[in-house]
Amino acid sequence: MSLSEISAKIEAACAKAGRDPDSVKLIAVSKVQPLDRVTAVLDAGHRLFGENRVQEADGKWPDLRDQYGAVDVHLIGPLQSNKARQAMQLFQAIHSVDRPKLANSIARLAQELGTCPDIFVQINTGEEPQKAGVLPTEADAFVAACRALDLPVQGLMCIPPVEEEPSLHFALLAKIAARNGLAGLSMGMSGDFESAIALGATHIRVGSAIFGARVKG
Ligand SMILES: *Cc1c(COP(=O)(O)O)cnc(C)c1O
Repeated sequence: MSLSEISAKIEAACAKAGRDPDSVKLIAVSKVQPLDRVTAVLDAGHRLFGENRVQEADGKWPDLRDQYGAVDVHLIGPLQSNKARQAMQLFQAIHSVDRPKLANSIARLAQELGTCPDIFVQINTGEEPQKAGVLPTEADAFVAACRALDLPVQGLMCIPPVEEEPSLHFALLAKIAARNGLAGLSMGMSGDFESAIALGATHIRVGSAIFGARVKG
């Protein structure tokens, strides 16, 4: 699908939900895509991308920013504490903060660097043992701990279990965000961004629908 077709779908989903289209940010997930597909989307004027690995992003975005100027890139994949410094220098937002050790590292680095990317707390809404994220029952305490560290927590993020109806997870994420006074909701991917918008998504993470199937990964 072209970027303009996706934008049309976003606008339609917003209209249906009675939402302002400007309230939904499209994160074009460029992980493992060939460079020519990424530059095509940059050439079309898009300036918000998502990556799930620090190393891969570091190999790509400094050069692309030299060519295209300012581009916002969000980290949507897991982050190890020992890569936090590099991540904070590369990304405008980190969507995957999910444990005290990482929150502490980011807070310490924020003091040192004098700046901090926007923070999203990842919630493991499906309570899947193999999946990253804070359990729903621990979400309020973790958000409070992040705030106590002065982290700029903008919202919550989830990746619903593949075999379940995503809207139940989107609704749960929205509920947890609301009771914590958080406006940001990073939810919805290629297959389900319209229902995520219906349930309040502010950041949708769309990869294959924009770029085509990923070659690997
Ligand atoms: C890869 C990825 C996406 C994009 O997935 P698509 O199905 O290709 O849209 C979204 N969110 C996260 C966390 C991802 O890792």
